[in-house]
Amino acid sequence: MAMTRTTHTFCRICEALCGLQVTVENGRVVGIEPDAAHVATQGFGCMKGLKQHHLFQSPDRLRHPLKRVGRDWQRIPWEQALAEIGEKVRRLRTQLSPDSIAMYVGTAAGFGVLHPVFAQGFMTAVGSKSMYASATQDCASKFAAARHIYGFPFTQPFPDIDRTQCLIIVGANPVISKWSFLQVPHAPKRLKELEARGGKLFIVDPRRTETAKVAGRHVFIRPNTDVFFFLSFLHELLASGGVDAGRVAQFMTGLDEIARLAQSWPAERTAAVTRIPAVTLREMVAAYRTASGAALYCSTGVNMGTNGTLAFWLQEVINAISGNLDRFGGTLVGRGIIDFAKFGVKNGLLMRNDRSRIGDFTAVNDAFPGGILADEILTPGARQVRALFVTGGNPLITMPNAARLRQALEQLELLVVLDIFRNETASCAHYVLPCTVPLERPDLPFIFPLMLGLQLRPYLQATERVVDADGEQRDEATIYLDLCRAAGVSLFGSKPAQRLLQLAKMVHAARHPRRQPSIPQEALLSLLLRATRHGSFRKLLGHPHGLLREPHRENDFLGQRVVTDDGKVHLAPPVLLQQAAKLEADYAQEIVERDRLKLISKRAVHTHNSWTHNDEEFISGGRDTNHLYLHPDDAARLGLREGDIADVSTDTATVRVPVRLLDDLMLGTAAMPHGWGHQHATGLSVAAKTKGVNVNLLAADGADRLERVSGMAHLTGIPVEVRPAAGPRAAENWSGIASA
Ligand code: SF4
Repeated sequence: MAMTRTTHTFCRICEALCGLQVTVENGRVVGIEPDAAHVATQGFGCMKGLKQHHLFQSPDRLRHPLKRVGRDWQRIPWEQALAEIGEKVRRLRTQLSPDSIAMYVGTAAGFGVLHPVFAQGFMTAVGSKSMYASATQDCASKFAAARHIYGFPFTQPFPDIDRTQCLIIVGANPVISKWSFLQVPHAPKRLKELEARGGKLFIVDPRRTETAKVAGRHVFIRPNTDVFFFLSFLHELLASGGVDAGRVAQFMTGLDEIARLAQSWPAERTAAVTRIPAVTLREMVAAYRTASGAALYCSTGVNMGTNGTLAFWLQEVINAISGNLDRFGGTLVGRGIIDFAKFGVKNGLLMRNDRSRIGDFTAVNDAFPGGILADEILTPGARQVRALFVTGGNPLITMPNAARLRQALEQLELLVVLDIFRNETASCAHYVLPCTVPLERPDLPFIFPLMLGLQLRPYLQATERVVDADGEQRDEATIYLDLCRAAGVSLFGSKPAQRLLQLAKMVHAARHPRRQPSIPQEALLSLLLRATRHGSFRKLLGHPHGLLREPHRENDFLGQRVVTDDGKVHLAPPVLLQQAAKLEADYAQEIVERDRLKLISKRAVHTHNSWTHNDEEFISGGRDTNHLYLHPDDAARLGLREGDIADVSTDTATVRVPVRLLDDLMLGTAAMPHGWGHQHATGLSVAAKTKGVNVNLLAADGADRLERVSGMAHLTGIPVEVRPAAGPRAAENWSGIASA
């Protein structure tokens, strides 16, 4: 007789963290529904979250450690994998340098609490500063700017969406992406409510996005000119007397410098590059200035351009000097279970000032830019990277110039990938270590809600493992603890911590002999809750739909939790002012290139970063490829029609892709979704047959192509050449793989 049970958990695929109700039959997940009783997400969920078990139960799932021998993969026991990897780490560490051992941490790592902590613990144990993170592909600009403005990278004010009377969204598409740096369940509903209560909503984007179609007024902007939009917004705000002088004098420094910077950027001037008419910009400024509570919010469309840090800085300056920062209806700074900024500054956490060997970049969140990783591997010298651990990421799809990175990875003495699939990056590895998926591990909501309170409605939730893994998969925290032992080092450089955790693991393993050995994850999560006076993990499990915390407050940040040296918001940090000196040259360049086609990114609702394509359900019905989207007039000018095959070129690469016409695009803008290009993956039987192409092949890597302050790669708003694919039978021969 089938044993069926229903349990509650939460999704850990994207920042919405939707509450889920999962049905398990004979140890397998057979159905997932949104949890209608969840305190915050209230029955919201999307296809990815509700069908995740189909992906996780794939025959392709990694179930045993693998070692690559020539072109073949050998199944090996855990002890052998750990011993061989540990031995190589020992040798490289002593014979070369600790920094010769690097790690790349992907987005998935941040959706668990213990994974990123133990990954960093392993690197500290090794003594290596060679950390690289996926943040430099999509959001390091926000962290870099926040550190200079507020004193800590994770101080990230968020729009008070449920109370604001004017919200201006730049380069974000929350209806599809579900917001970022803020947990907002059901974005469409909230945006409609904003309008219904008489609020103003503007969506500034080179594409009439799904969000723009739901609510608000859409304003086209030429790709990668956002920084000029913000400059003129600031200029017009200052000119119209929109400064809260009292608040600025009490809590901020640097207004004069920022006013000097904005002086030369009136709306008429920047209209030449942004294509936003001066009258439209002034209407937006007036709506913002006169609203009782207003907020500017930007995301990846801005971050991934060439001036993401400067644009975000200006946005924060506008929200601050207008008196909207730390005010209901404006932007708020959440509280996590601890004062993370104070803790971070006191302990130097995420505050290191290490400089990279290549390009002399300052670390952001203790990590270097991914865009220099290939050079760090390929360039001989002290600290040259010779080993790489990839954890929770797939850099061969997500990083700029993936073709060059592939060549670099092939030069490594040791490449270890911890993942759930043998994906594109894992296919190049020497060892692949199989990991558990979210439904197989206990957890708390990831770092943004837990440590920062980046939630519209603050709450806590705990989840047990919903099912056991069906093979030898282990959680990453346990793997890093075991790797430390195998390499003869101690987690976080602490012998007592290493011994204690090993002992705890032994005891836990003895209690659960039928499971893979693991550290007692629930006990560690409980320790975190108890240490911060938030009860215990068990107690929290008694609230299966989440436990509401105290609501956000206004006047709760300025003068209290700003952790700069003088406790004030720094409106004009010298590093950012210095960087702003390049804007005149950028403006001139933009004028010269005003007629060039620019490529922007585009997210599809059934795709999440580099995965979800390994299930027929996600790619059926003609969804087995990405497309190049063109405005019909641009397509006609280029001699292309719907369904034609086009070659898209930059100075880095050429890719071949089918064309779709889309009159939602601004003229001069092309769009292509990311996350495709699985043809090299040896362990994704479904995805490998898709035809889509990796758009990031077109982006440049290398120190001189990265944004200087944050190390961000330039992944959107890239000038491209587009032409009909060469050859009479181009359509038949199209494979989706880069042709050059
Ligand atoms: S929106 Fe979808 S992917 Fe994101 S947390 Fe909710 S169910 Fe998961």
